[in-house]
Amino acid sequence: MKTESLKPLPFDAAFLEEVAKTHPTPFHLYDEAAIRDHARRFLEAFSWVPGGFYNYYAVKALPNPAVLEILRDQGMGFDCSSATELALMEKMGIRGEEIIFTSNNTPAEEFRQARDLGAIINLDDLTHVDFLAREAGMPELICLRYNPGPLKEGNAIIGNPQEAKYGFTREQLFQGYRRARDLGARRFGLHTMVASNELNPEYFVETARILFELVVELKTELGIQIEFVNLGGGIGIPYRPDQQAVDYQVLSRGIQGAYQEIIVEAGLDPVRVVTENGRVVTGPYGWLITRVRHRKETYKRYLGVDATMADLMRPGMYGAYHHITVLGHEGEPPGETCDVTGSLCENNDKFALDRDLPRAEVGDLLAIHDTGAHGHAMGFNYNGKPRCAELLLRQDRSVQLIRRAETIDDVLQTIQWKSDPV
Ligand SMILES: *Cc1c(COP(=O)(O)O)cnc(C)c1O
Repeated sequence: MKTESLKPLPFDAAFLEEVAKTHPTPFHLYDEAAIRDHARRFLEAFSWVPGGFYNYYAVKALPNPAVLEILRDQGMGFDCSSATELALMEKMGIRGEEIIFTSNNTPAEEFRQARDLGAIINLDDLTHVDFLAREAGMPELICLRYNPGPLKEGNAIIGNPQEAKYGFTREQLFQGYRRARDLGARRFGLHTMVASNELNPEYFVETARILFELVVELKTELGIQIEFVNLGGGIGIPYRPDQQAVDYQVLSRGIQGAYQEIIVEAGLDPVRVVTENGRVVTGPYGWLITRVRHRKETYKRYLGVDATMADLMRPGMYGAYHHITVLGHEGEPPGETCDVTGSLCENNDKFALDRDLPRAEVGDLLAIHDTGAHGHAMGFNYNGKPRCAELLLRQDRSVQLIRRAETIDDVLQTIQWKSDPV
């Protein structure tokens, strides 16, 4: 079974060994050329959208300024959900409607911070309409997050919308727009996000249809013209070699059909369509590069590597599949079955369970695929493990350090020692 060739890599063992001379493993490596190429294809697929399609990249997926600059250069904005992500925008000199602030259970300071930056604020709850007006002032433009509840089937990661903590009910949404208008809002957006890592384009077309119908009802019932519809993020990626990427032509045509049928037919003013995708934008263009440290044979066979779940927690946290290539053995059939493990004192610190791989020796490099989103970003410091570095493979094939590895001192620096002044 030659599954390896279905997940090609933009580098080989010799290239990585050269990189590792300067930047010891483990590290995440991101491919600038591939990120740019994808961004171009993605945005072009929606060029029919009146007033322009826009993706607010979900910053949480890969909050590194070097990568965010690339996306900005390709014409994307940013979806922030925390004070730190907003602070990152401020440091990068990004302001105004290039940012949408989609958070939940939001503290007053974060609303003020988002207002100061001029970000579009996307409210998660009816009570936040008055809370925002009181704590930070009602902006001219406001977006509300809809939770379609029983109208929509569940999805594996987010689950059943009725069980999801996000958004307004349908009735609350109508109340919310009315109240926001009373408090001074004049421009309006409508948002929902009901899927994560979803590969079926029909799912998003159906979501768009639900929102377009709401746009018409809001116009009829409240006289409110929605300026943009935000379909959220959640486009999935083919983590497994036998999965197919979402076909943007199919997705785009489906949404365009619904737009024509609902918005255009109702004679409404043009409504912009925007999204907040993170995973699909960078996920497939990052790899965690790690070296085999030990081989161990007990009741099972283990490949112990120098990365841990602290560098990539998706497999340990929700059993997510990440494809693994043994460098130097690309395209070879599997020679053995093993668990690929880190060194945390946690038995779920594993990148793969019972994986068929070509035989890897101590010292060999492994590439763990699809770590360009929700990879380094989800890192943590359990067992005092310093998080690994992030590198960028530039278009000219040079490799740039874009975040150094943490040191032991970094991990210990927040401790209050007895000898420290109080
Ligand atoms: C996580 C999240 C996104 C991005 O999701 P992806 O699966 O990375 O596309 C977008 N919007 C909101 C509100 C989110 O919580």
